[in-house]
Amino acid sequence: MTVLEVKNIETYYGAIQALRGISLDVAEGEIVTLIGSNGAGKSTTLKSISGLAKVKSGSIHYKGKEITNKPPHQTTLLGAAHVPEGRRIFANLTVKENLLMGAFSVKGKDVIDERMEFVFSYFPKLKERFHQKGGTMSGGEQQMLAIGRALMMKPDLLMLDEPSMGLAPIIVEQIFEIILQLNAMGITILLVEQNAYQALSIAHRGYVIQNGTIVLSGKGSDLVENEEIKEAYLA
Ligand code: ATP
Repeated sequence: MTVLEVKNIETYYGAIQALRGISLDVAEGEIVTLIGSNGAGKSTTLKSISGLAKVKSGSIHYKGKEITNKPPHQTTLLGAAHVPEGRRIFANLTVKENLLMGAFSVKGKDVIDERMEFVFSYFPKLKERFHQKGGTMSGGEQQMLAIGRALMMKPDLLMLDEPSMGLAPIIVEQIFEIILQLNAMGITILLVEQNAYQALSIAHRGYVIQNGTIVLSGKGSDLVENEEIKEAYLA
């Protein structure tokens, strides 16, 4: 079943056209990745879906509901969580406070505690660092916190923008392993990555974005073997 349907969206930053008619879909339970070089429009695609960038034309549906240009908190409440590029955790707040910020609409201490335990089951480091300020943690831990914060809303769809950025290879491995685990427990994943090889290796399907349009799409296992892709992105 299709959960996310993006149809021919065009998004601008002022006079600059970042997206030139992007269409894609994500089925329940899939890991779908968007790859492409710097400035291709990957982040803008996620921002357009979550309501952080204004879409000029085209439409976005999530679980059958139109969400085009809905404010980000509404999209989150419908079950689609966005973990932005660069992590964007609150550096001066503790791990606990950051997680609580993620649970903005959740009522009841028991539910919040249960969600936190769920997050700690994937990221035990966050439990150890519970009272530490986010900004004092390593890049990998901050990425885990950013994902953990999104998980506090119990999303059905997790949109991750370059979770591997700036992290050591061993930490990248861990993050990708956790993405696979989250998917295995039923969370649908839309993953933006520069790290095309690893992203395609874990994805069911992928889309290649170039200059604001999709130039290629297919199964992750096929794209990873594709000569053009190997040359452009996997070199
Ligand atoms: P990156 O990995 O570098 O983030 P990307 O594929 O995610 O690349 P986008 O960030 O979506 O690309 O950028 C798409 C285009 O929109 C680029 O030409 C970029 O310069 C432009 N752009 C992105 N953000 C802004 C902004 N806030 N203001 C103006 N132009 C922007």
